[in-house]
Amino acid sequence: MKVFAIIAGALVTLVVACLMLMRYGGSPAEEPELNFEGYLKVLGFEEKTEQVSLPLLFPCKACDGEVSESGNTCPSCDHPVSGSIMFHKVLLAAAPYGGVKSLKAIFEARKSGAAQLVLPPPEEDDAPEPTRFHYPITDLSPLAELKGLKELTLTGNPIPDGQKAMLNKALPDCVISY
Ligand SMILES: [Zn+2]
Repeated sequence: MKVFAIIAGALVTLVVACLMLMRYGGSPAEEPELNFEGYLKVLGFEEKTEQVSLPLLFPCKACDGEVSESGNTCPSCDHPVSGSIMFHKVLLAAAPYGGVKSLKAIFEARKSGAAQLVLPPPEEDDAPEPTRFHYPITDLSPLAELKGLKELTLTGNPIPDGQKAMLNKALPDCVISY
């Protein structure tokens, strides 16, 4: 009788565990893979975009025509202005990290555990603000997480000395060229 009770108890535990697995989808060890959008959230972009102020007129995300925050839709193509506002706020919030282009490269390096990363400043003839995807890097905080890096090239970026000292300390085994 006792053995039967133990087996029944184990079975019930197993069924409950299966039900929990079905309900919550997979074991807790299987975290969903972080995508770029999720990475921006990790970096606090929800607050950063709120602190960014746009110029009076900025390009429509869809047609590049001029729109302002006071309008609802683009006068040229009817695209909702709210989408263009968010788009440019993200671009400007990413500027201290080298813009969305550099942040994507940092994200990819973080995901793959890359040993090497080169982040050059933008070319002179790149698009002007606020349409830029690529800015000179001034804030190195996302790079401090890339513990697998052995070689990092940041030459040409106007990086403050305090940021350099912070990164040198965070990545002692990495050869960093400023
Ligand atoms: Zn438009």
